[in-house]
Amino acid sequence: MRRPVPLLLALLSFLAASVALAQESPDPQGVHPVLVTVDDLPIAVNRLHDAAERERITRDILAVFKKHGIKAVGMVVGRNMDPADGKKLLDMWLDAGQELGNHTYGHLNYTETAIDAYVADAAHGLEVLRAQLAPRGLAPRWFRFPFLCEGNTPEKLDAMRAWLAANAQRNVPVTIDGQDWSFEEPWVTARRANDTARLARLSEDYLRTLQVELLAQTVQGDELFGGRPVPQVLLLHANEVGAAHWDAFFTWMKTRGFRFATSDEVLADAAFAEPHRFVGNYGGGVWSRIEQERRTAKARADVLAALAKQAADWNRGDLAAFCSVYADDATFASPSGVTTGREGALERYRKRYPDRAAMGTLTLEPVDVRTPWGNEVTLLGDAMPGRVTTVTVLAKWSIARTGAAPSAGHTLLVFRRLEGQWKIVQDASF
Ligand SMILES: [Zn+2]
Repeated sequence: MRRPVPLLLALLSFLAASVALAQESPDPQGVHPVLVTVDDLPIAVNRLHDAAERERITRDILAVFKKHGIKAVGMVVGRNMDPADGKKLLDMWLDAGQELGNHTYGHLNYTETAIDAYVADAAHGLEVLRAQLAPRGLAPRWFRFPFLCEGNTPEKLDAMRAWLAANAQRNVPVTIDGQDWSFEEPWVTARRANDTARLARLSEDYLRTLQVELLAQTVQGDELFGGRPVPQVLLLHANEVGAAHWDAFFTWMKTRGFRFATSDEVLADAAFAEPHRFVGNYGGGVWSRIEQERRTAKARADVLAALAKQAADWNRGDLAAFCSVYADDATFASPSGVTTGREGALERYRKRYPDRAAMGTLTLEPVDVRTPWGNEVTLLGDAMPGRVTTVTVLAKWSIARTGAAPSAGHTLLVFRRLEGQWKIVQDASF
């Protein structure tokens, strides 16, 4: 999620670059196809520029694309077309052979917007883009969520996925987001003040930030998909600071083994077909969404496996093994009171279940499993999903004994990840 802290960001970017390079030394192997996407067309932060500047920026951007043989997708914000020259600028993109996609009309944040209002705004954006493309025999097919917020509830996620499918539109995910937009205001301010020292510093920070993000996400994408060179989708914004730096950035990219590819080639890659139902308040790159889905699924599977092992240990009559999944300082609540510590619990179990006949056969059936997680903030000021450190399980337990009535009840277990293993820290059984 973008946070409006450009000055802080500029200060942090040097630190980020140094730290990230020192920690990861990202050195992706192989040639990586990259789709370039440019958001907030016709011009991001319209109010900063007059008509002549908007046209110059557009011309400069398109000249860089031509020089590097780039076929990009420009994501249009309907309301940014409002100045009289908006349609003319979009025609420049189309005349240059670039493709346009829908970035909604009002650039609303889905996390803060109800489903109906958001869908209506996306439809409005599609309508104005359709009108722009129709005279050329073209039709919109790509969509980009503003702030990369795709839904903070499952209902919102499903509603927009259904709307996209019904309108033959496809979400274009982002893999590389260097927060380039945050440099625009400082850059324009320094350029107008003729502050060459500050411009030089901003240039260095702008390029370094994008380079670090590109390399780090490329390494992460490759790791997620078995080490092959996975295609990337670069997010940039249609602004002056971009127009001034992309020639240098694209030239550097080529020296690091990246090649520019079309939307059709990049989005056909299987990496972009991995299903995920990531739900979060903040947007982010698709790699972190996929990683979070995998982490959550693994945490859930590991905890359920620990529960299955516990039942098997019980049914072998091995109470020590049954209790080994508890943390040393776990607390246990039952109708008879609260016990603290694994040793105390083991002792209690041994008194209460002195032999196999008393233990019977235990069954644990999960009723509700939850894997809460929070957000971490990267050095670039971006929110990313945090690790899953806790899993809660509501389960039904039952014990069958030969010649006696079965007993049953419910248990609420809290698992924590401790020294690489899932351990129960709290257990309330009734
Ligand atoms: Zn945007």
